[in-house]
Amino acid sequence: MSTLPEVPLSASAPHRSLCTDCGVSRSSNPKLCASACQFIQPDYERYETQVHGRPRRLEVEDEMHFGPFLQMHKARLKVPLEGAQWTGITTRMAQKLLLSGLVDAVLTVTADASDRWRPVPILIDRAEDMHQARGMRMGYAPLLSLLEPALQKGYRKLAVIGIPCQIYALRALEKSLGLEALYVIGTPCSDNTTTENFHQFLKLIAPEPSEVTYLEFKANYHVELRFKNAPTQEIPFLQLPLSDLPKDFFPLTCRSCVDYTNALSDITVGYMAGEGEQWVIARNARGEQLLNLLGDEVQLTPTQSAGKRHSAVMGFKKNVELAAGGLPLRKMPRWLRPVVSWLMPRIGPRGLEFARTRVEMKAIEAVLHLRRELPSRIKHMLPAHIWHLVKAYDLEPQAHERIMKKTET
Ligand SMILES: Cc1cc2nc3c(=O)[nH]c(=O)nc-3n(C[C@H](O)[C@H](O)[C@H](O)COP(=O)(O)OP(=O)(O)OC[C@H]3O[C@@H](n4cnc5c(N)ncnc54)[C@H](O)[C@@H]3O)c2cc1C
Ligand code: SF4
Ligand code: SF4
Repeated sequence: MSTLPEVPLSASAPHRSLCTDCGVSRSSNPKLCASACQFIQPDYERYETQVHGRPRRLEVEDEMHFGPFLQMHKARLKVPLEGAQWTGITTRMAQKLLLSGLVDAVLTVTADASDRWRPVPILIDRAEDMHQARGMRMGYAPLLSLLEPALQKGYRKLAVIGIPCQIYALRALEKSLGLEALYVIGTPCSDNTTTENFHQFLKLIAPEPSEVTYLEFKANYHVELRFKNAPTQEIPFLQLPLSDLPKDFFPLTCRSCVDYTNALSDITVGYMAGEGEQWVIARNARGEQLLNLLGDEVQLTPTQSAGKRHSAVMGFKKNVELAAGGLPLRKMPRWLRPVVSWLMPRIGPRGLEFARTRVEMKAIEAVLHLRRELPSRIKHMLPAHIWHLVKAYDLEPQAHERIMKKTET
């Protein structure tokens, strides 16, 4: 069977302005977008219950932030996979699914043949071909456009690796697919943009952008860059040239996205609470099964937490307000930035507290950007958990920003 990238010939570009081209609009029934899209009227309570048997418990702090889960760990493959974004837990789980016959194929993305940063959807049905998916690409790939081709090929047991807006649509469609098995490995996602925009960013941070082979925003407040022919570099977040980027560098979709940690995946594989390691969140029995597939290839250690997030998140909120729809630039003298950059990994929020910080920042962005650019959509687009996340930062829903339940009227 072929493992080449396959985008159906009938594919047509999405027509909505709030759209990350997850692939549904390229299917034989683009009208499905109306019920499947994260950016129309997401219903996390419903799909969390469908997938995990219950919605997140808002009274449990880490569920409010990260969604329902059974287990959460720092993690790493003892022998990292070459070319992986971190140690390759995501790729290895998918390989194990194929090797054990639990799935017929894995739906994921690979790199475009002429642009290593551009994601292109791919169906992989041999474990030895999973290396094509390793690593992170920046941009949007119509991942779900390959669901119908997968069914046409006779695949009935699928694994899907995806970012939150893709996984939301997948869960909304799941029941109609008639699959015998579906394993969902999700990664967190934030601050994504078009591949074209990302190339602009690369030009600003690297003198030879085509030499860059790896980029990651890390939990130590640095961006790591690797090059074809030069040593690895780490640039502190505070010293990134964000002021040189256009105001609309991040589309409104990614500035108003409400699911940082991929709450509808069976297992989320990220790094935010990993303190230099990976971070896995097994959300349901299937997620635990995926983790168990790794056996003793994976080293798990307990997550930890240090520092306090409140003032950092409050400062971020003020910067987003000041930026008035643009990028949240820090009003800090240039000379102070290296000092603060040195201090942040040492005294700033770390481990779970770092992850909570980032999730709250993203929730604040969603509220503020939608209030500014699409206020009439707030009541439909922001699920209840977002309001819980931003409450400590003087952000409460106004009457017209909530859908009143019948019992409240
Ligand atoms: C745009 C983006 C933003 C992210 N932001 C965060 C973040 O803020 N915090 C965090 O903890 N983690 C984030 N991640 C996830 C993180 O970068 C790692 O992918 C994850 O930790 C898995 O590491 P790994 O070594 O197990 O992955 P690997 O084994 O290397 O596998 C990575 C998988 O991700 C898929 N993938 C790569 N790029 C894309 C893409 N553009 N769209 C869909 N799928 C893709 C690949 O196909 C592959 O299957 C982000 C990922 C992306 C794509
Ligand atoms: S469901 Fe997907 S393709 Fe359709 S509008 Fe939403 S993001 Fe775009
Ligand atoms: S930030 Fe959200 S909307 Fe943007 S690509 Fe990632 S999951 Fe999709």
